[in-house]
Formats: sequence, structure tokens, C-alpha cells
Amino acid sequence: AVNKEGSVGERENCFGAEKVEELEDGDEDEGNRKKLRVWCRRHDYLWESGQIRSNSGEKALVLLPDGTVVTVPTQDLLPANPHILDEVDDLAQLSYLNEPSVLHNLQYRYTKDNIYSKAGPVLLAINPFKSVPIYGDDIVTAYRKNLLDSPHVYATADAAYKAMIADEVNQSIIISGESGAGKTETAKIAMQYLAARGGGGDVIESKVLQTSCILEAFGNAKTAMNNNSSRFSRVVQLAQGERSYHIFYQLCSGAPSGLRGRLRLRGASEYKYLNQSECLEIPNIDDAQKFHDLMEALDSIRICKEDQEYAFEMLAAVLWLGNISFVVTDNQKHIEVVSDEAVTNAAGLMGCFEQDLILTLSTRRVRAGKDEVTKSLTLEQAIATRDALASFIYVSLFDWLVEKINLSLSMGKDNMGCSVSILDMCGFESLKKNNFEQFCTNYANERLQQHLNQHLIKHEQEEYELDGIDWNKVEFEDNQECIDLFEKKPIGLMPILDELSNLPKATDLTFSAKLKHHLSNNRCFQGERGGTFRIRHHAGEASLLVVLYETEKFLEKNRDQVHSEIIELYASCTGRLPQSFAPLLKQSQNLDSASVQSEMSVCKKQSVATTFKGQLFKLIQHLESTKQHFICCIRPNNKQIPGAFEKDIALRQLRCCGILQVVRISKSGYPMQMTHQEFTKRYVSLLGETKDSQDPLSLSIAILQKFGILPEMYQVGYTKLYFRKGQIDVLEDVRKQG
Ligand code: ATP
Ligand code: MG
Repeated sequence: AVNKEGSVGERENCFGAEKVEELEDGDEDEGNRKKLRVWCRRHDYLWESGQIRSNSGEKALVLLPDGTVVTVPTQDLLPANPHILDEVDDLAQLSYLNEPSVLHNLQYRYTKDNIYSKAGPVLLAINPFKSVPIYGDDIVTAYRKNLLDSPHVYATADAAYKAMIADEVNQSIIISGESGAGKTETAKIAMQYLAARGGGGDVIESKVLQTSCILEAFGNAKTAMNNNSSRFSRVVQLAQGERSYHIFYQLCSGAPSGLRGRLRLRGASEYKYLNQSECLEIPNIDDAQKFHDLMEALDSIRICKEDQEYAFEMLAAVLWLGNISFVVTDNQKHIEVVSDEAVTNAAGLMGCFEQDLILTLSTRRVRAGKDEVTKSLTLEQAIATRDALASFIYVSLFDWLVEKINLSLSMGKDNMGCSVSILDMCGFESLKKNNFEQFCTNYANERLQQHLNQHLIKHEQEEYELDGIDWNKVEFEDNQECIDLFEKKPIGLMPILDELSNLPKATDLTFSAKLKHHLSNNRCFQGERGGTFRIRHHAGEASLLVVLYETEKFLEKNRDQVHSEIIELYASCTGRLPQSFAPLLKQSQNLDSASVQSEMSVCKKQSVATTFKGQLFKLIQHLESTKQHFICCIRPNNKQIPGAFEKDIALRQLRCCGILQVVRISKSGYPMQMTHQEFTKRYVSLLGETKDSQDPLSLSIAILQKFGILPEMYQVGYTKLYFRKGQIDVLEDVRKQG
């Protein structure tokens, strides 16, 4: 296989169902055939357009745009679509559905700021990384009045809204995509539409929109991939160049002087929790202004000034806690808390006695038989306790805030009507160093991906097969193996993690050694030296996404232990306490009264990974009980810049979502389905006279024949009739006229 650049090795073409040789069998004359447009593979994922000059079967001479003619093996050629299809807004309209054609179409549209396209039933949204003039009241109205129907988040939200009203069924809009792909922005755009559509009171509309501002301040942070990333657990530890939650920086730079005084607040650079990552600012973001917006948002959803003050006190307490330091005494064995302004301020803001805080951070009660003795902590334990307290306060604060928001939105009313849920979560991340946070996030994304695959690819085809209709199966590689790697009992990543988290002596290194020992046969897993391992994410062997995880702190973070002393200290604080910790306090009291011999009394609770998995299952269960709409966000480059559509980066994401398979099924599939009974019930009146003895199937056929629906436009299954797109419209029109 020789061409201009030398040899191109044989490679599998994942999506190239159409082959160029097959096109040669058509009716085209010699002249046309010579002009046949093709894609020729130049490198791994780089395809160049060209025109076939001659074709010997095994090789073809291809004219490239720069005027050179190269010899290309036919296996490295794929048919290209005519230019007239360059801009189609649904990939299902492409005559040839292969990777280079799809990428070409999406890139072409992207350069013209057409960031939305359909991939069969899925809306693709390619992040523009700039403001595009396609939103706002006029466009909302245009979609509402059906004056516009091009692919758009508004169109998807509109479809969900209309279906909710018409069918009285709960709807959900599931937004997927990697970190920085645009899920949160898309969710906000969908909310904007629904808020405008829902009409009702302006108050609720603006309240709903204001909640994003609050939730983003407390739940989003700057990461390597996204300046406004939806994240969790990052209060006490940050990677270089990343930030903690926006709210801390907003508070530090935006708090008015009275509040500053009451919180003993300093600049962000003076707090260790914030300055550890050497990144305090985000380009083009004014934290002080954002704080101002936040206060307005809090006012508008009627969180009273007292509660706001309480929230800010807790934030400042977290920051001061981070500044508390320790000195080692007593032959390196024990520590003392340095008595400085950090302790005084933290205790003052929390509303506890300084001495109690010092005791909690430096000692632990230990049972010895029936007695209880107080033991001094090591430096490592003291730091862990301080950080656990800070995290605990932040988590309690966040839960409290969400509760307040929900209360304010429901305004005391029971939520009786139908709903549209929008799912936006933290997207897949692959950083230089990945830890427990990425482990959980990526697992969740893997699960969500499986849900999408099952819904859009697997179930649809299984139903065709079971119902006995003619169907050429579309193959795809699902991610079950990777899911098994995480979940399978007793030797999956999570069960092993939980097992070792329950063993006090286990370390991150024994954890990684155990993984390597048990999981090395799994194609998605690769154990490494020195406490690291790799996971092939999404589609197993074909996957281009191999992520390296470091097991450091995996066990500690998974345990997320809250010592009873912390809970007790918290309970003794005079500030108003968030509800969320009440159950923990109860547990702690039970634990204390039990006469168990324990090194340290810890509130036993489910591990973080298991809790997370449980929440995820509940979420997916909820989605399954709704009518689902899908939006897949694509990040066209890794630099967060406008205008750059990097094909390999986009391709990897399209492959992960199985987009080509989804389109292929939608192209040759039957989007409209009804049981024979449903069909006859709905349309039998159109037949006029019928005999009672006629069964639903023969009645259905009679109706279809009477209205001239061509046999290739539908299929008859054992239980259902399956229709190609648009076919049922004819019958609906007649029915409505009648
Ligand atoms: P993560 O998983 O990290 O939370 P995400 O998928 O939620 O990521 P977003 O925060 O929604 O990503 O988007 C990242 C950035 O991309 C936004 O801050 C914004 O600058 C830009 N962006 C995304 N969508 C749009 C859009 N429709 N118009 C303009 N800019 C956008
Ligand atoms: Mg987000």
C-alpha cells in the first residue's frame, strides 16, 4: 500500500459500513465515476477529501485538493457525500454515514456557528466557547410558535414541554458530555426556555434562573479543563492551577466592609485552602462582581439576611480552619495546636469555645475497657481531623442551601403536576493526576453512558428482534466490561475499595496491590507500580480513553470518617445548625453508648463510593420512569477557545457516545411504534364498515392499505406495527379532519 507519504497500514474502520468498491457497481457512467468524491485515510484519524481518478479494485488513484495524485489502497477510502449535503442539520440525512463524513458535516456547520445538529433522536451541541446570537426572548418565541424548527436546545426543551402537557407524563432531558463540553450551559439554556414557556408567574421564572447562580457559586470550581466546572469534594485539597469552589474567592473579594469585619475576612491569598494551588483568579472573571450577583440571587429567592450571614460565617470558618497549624512536641509523637488568630477566628465563627476546638483537633477519646482515656493525636491525624471538620461544615452548608432553595421554589405548595427534569452532572475528566474524585466522576459517566447505549441502541434493536421483524443489526461495543470492572462483586474496583476501607491497617499501596492481583485479567484494567492503575474507559479495547489513577488517599476519602468528637463539637456550636447533620449526631451518640473497644470512635456510615453508586442508581431509575430526551455535548478542543474544531478530539467523544450507531439505527429504524390493538383502536373509524370478527392485525393491514402506506414504510411484528419516520402523519391528518 504505497502513497505519497509511504505506506498506510491496514486498519479497522469502525464505522465505515459503506465501501467505495460497492459504489462502483452503480449505474454511473465512466465520467461520473472518475469524479466520485471520497475520503482517504492519511493518518490514524486524519481523512482528506479527494476524487477518484481510477480504481483497480485493490488500489485507486486519487486527486487531492492540492493537485497531487496519490495511490491509495481501497480499504483506506470511504465515500464522501455530495456538497449539497454539507450542511444538513440531521446526520441521518447524510447518504453516506462514516466518520469522516460526519466530522466534515459537524465541522462545516460549526464554522458557520451552527453549533446544534441532530444525530437521529439525539441533539448534538458543540461548545462554541463564545457567545452566539441564537438565544433570547425572540428566539424562544420563534420556537414556541413553531416558526423555527432547526436543532436547538430550545427545540428539545419545547418537545419535552409539549409532551408533558399532551401526554401528562414526566419528562427528562439528559445532558451528557465530558468536562468542559457545555452541559451546565446547556442545562441553563433549557431552564431558560422552560421558565419562559411555563409562564405563570414571573417570580418563579426568575427564581429558577437565579438558583443556577447560587448552585454554581457553591458547587463549581476552576479546573484544568473548565473554568466553571461542576465538581464535588475539593475544599481541603487542590491540584496545582485549579481553584476551590467559586464562592470562597467571591466572598474574599466581594464582601462589603461590615461583613468583612464580622467574618475577620482577609484576601484569598492569605488562606491556605485557597493559596495551595497557586491559582486565585480566573481570566476575565470578576469575583467581586459575582459576589454582588450572588447576594442578589440569594435575596431574590428569599433567603433571609440572617441565613445569608450564617452561610458566610460557615464559609469563613472553613477558611480559618485551613490556617490552623500544629507544632510537634514530645519526641515527634504528639502535637499541639498553635494558638493564633486562626483558631480564635474559626472558633468564634463556628460559635464554639476555642478550647473545645483545640481539644477536638488535638486529642481523641479512646476506650480502655470500661474507662475512657484521652489520647493525643499525631500530626497526620490532627491534619486529617482539621480537614474532615472543614469538609463536614462545607457539605452541611451545601445540603442546607439546597434545602432552602427547594423550599423557596415550592413556596409551601405540594408538587402535584408533571415535571421536566434536567440532568447535568460533573463530566468525564482525564487529568495528569487523577484521584478518587475523578474515579467517582468517571464511574458515574460510564454508568450514564451505559444508560444512553441501552436506551438508544440496545433496547430498540432487541425489541425489533423479539417482535420478529426484519432487521440488520447495528453492532456496537458497549461498556459493560468497564462497568463490571467497577462494580462486580467481590472483585471489582469498588468492592475491593470498600473491603480495604473497612480494614484499619490497609493502605493505599495495599489497595493498589490487591487491585493488580485480582483484576489483571480484565481488558479494561492495567495495574502499575507505585500505587497507580489505569482504566480503559468507555468502550474497552477500542477505547482511546485510558486514564491513569493514583491511589493516594483513596481509602481515606472513601471512608470519609467523621469522628464523634467532630460531631459533638459541631453540636455545641451556638450558630444555627444545618439539619443535615442531625442523623449523624444520633449515630454518634449511639456509638458512644455502646461499650465497644475501639481505637477511635467513628461514625460508621456507608462508604462514599457505595453511597454515590446508590444515588446514581436512584437517579437512573427516575430517568427510566420518564420520557427521555437526549443532548450530547461535545468539546471541540482542549484549550477552551472559540473556532477550533479538532477532529480527533471531537471524534473520540462521538465514538464514546456511539453517535454513528444511534444515527444508523434511526436511519433504518422505525421511530413510531404501536401495538395492533392501539393502532386499530385509534384508526378503525377511518375504515368505515368493519366486521366484528376481524382481528386487530387484519384490521391494521386493511387500514394501511386503504391509505396507501407503502409496505416498505412499515413492518408488522408479533405484537406491534413499526413505522418509518413520518408515515403515521397521513393517518393522523385524516383522523383529525374526521
Ligand atoms: P463540567 O463537567 O466540568 O461541569 P460542563 O460540560 O458543564 O463541564 P460548561 O461549564 O457548561 O461545561 O461549559 C464550559 C464553558 O464553555 C462555559 O463556561 C462557557 O464558557 C462555554 N460554553 C458552553 N456552552 C456554551 C454556549 N452554548 N454558548 C457559549 N459558551 C458556551
Ligand atoms: Mg458543569
